Amino acid sequence: MIIKNGKVLLFKNDDVVIEEKDVLIQEGKITKIEDQIKADGEEIIDATDKIVMPGLINTHTHIAMCLFRGTFEGCDLFTWLHKKIWPIEDKLTKEQIYDASIFSMIEMIATGTTCFNDQYFMPEETRKAAEKMGMRAVLTRPLMDTDGSDLNVRIQEFRDFYESRDENNDLITYSVAPHGLYTCSGNCLKKARDLAVEYNLPIHVHFLESIDEINSIKELHGEEASKVLKKYFDGIHTILAHGVKLNDQDIEVLKTMDCGIAHNPVSNLRLGCKIADVTKYKKAGITVALGTDGAGSGNNLDMFESLRTACLMQGGIYEDADRITSRDVIKMATIEGAKLLGLEDRIGSLEEGKDADIILVDISSKLDHISMLPNHDIISNLVYNTSGRDVDTTIVKGKILMKNRKFEQVDVNEAIKKVNQINII
Ligand SMILES: [Zn+2]
Repeated sequence: MIIKNGKVLLFKNDDVVIEEKDVLIQEGKITKIEDQIKADGEEIIDATDKIVMPGLINTHTHIAMCLFRGTFEGCDLFTWLHKKIWPIEDKLTKEQIYDASIFSMIEMIATGTTCFNDQYFMPEETRKAAEKMGMRAVLTRPLMDTDGSDLNVRIQEFRDFYESRDENNDLITYSVAPHGLYTCSGNCLKKARDLAVEYNLPIHVHFLESIDEINSIKELHGEEASKVLKKYFDGIHTILAHGVKLNDQDIEVLKTMDCGIAHNPVSNLRLGCKIADVTKYKKAGITVALGTDGAGSGNNLDMFESLRTACLMQGGIYEDADRITSRDVIKMATIEGAKLLGLEDRIGSLEEGKDADIILVDISSKLDHISMLPNHDIISNLVYNTSGRDVDTTIVKGKILMKNRKFEQVDVNEAIKKVNQINII
């Protein structure tokens, strides 16, 4: 396959640049990025008036939570989880999780996400859906025990899930996910660590998302959150979802660990968790990537909304220009996301030798794009004036998952109908 005549987004000397190039894809990999590649029988994708860029990487989500979209506005995190979400989740069926997973993957593919890091129960259903849709995913069976659930049963469910993996499918990778330091006892965190070591997997944990968490972690573990984190996960690659409430001491601890932050700006605002100072975290050398969180709190899975919100909301805490820019957030949604998930040798940038996870974003001059015209700065417009609806084509490992906004592997109308009929609220 050759993607011809596009404006290709590349990372060069720490900058984000756009160059007019062709991209050759062979056996799922990018093998050449050059001016005018001559076709020799390959399938041609015409990318005239389109940005050709790495697929977006959603580093923290719970995709089946599209079933909660638009509900329970105005709750704080703890009320939302304990009183609203968890009692309903207890009643969800396998079929509902499968249908919700297919539905959310359609939303992600249609808005330019090619890889997501999920944390939800009955993950076999999400995995089945990812295999059908052709998406790249990091999956797990989350662990927690302060809610009275039997930890040994949860761990066995994780083992059964992981051990039943298809080793030939390298699009699906795995994490060990203690839900949060406030929902897992010391014993649960230790067992999560042991599993991560045994299977050589990263940890994926909610960390300092809300103000209430600070005290509840202290009460449960007798120590501050970052000390608890270091005690159990030092030396293990750790994906921290949120990190809104980090103080300077926490940042110092995180700097000594192999970890990074999945920043979920829209979800944080929706749940009244305030603003993570990701400008400061980045300056301290901590990896910061982007996510949407589940659609129950993040509203949708459109990473372009996260890009724009992440960038804009730093202006809510910084009055000077010394804060993250549109170029930074594009990296956060691509190469930094790949780093956070431990996949940077395979995805996250358009480079020869990497897997072809690519999206085409339509920037043609027409009424639908009037808000991005005149297009003086393509990168800035991509962040401030683009939405997932502008994504035209989505490719994962060289396979087209959506072309000209059409899907072949799934009946979109049927998938929408199924989820519209699920009434759990
Ligand atoms: Zn979450």
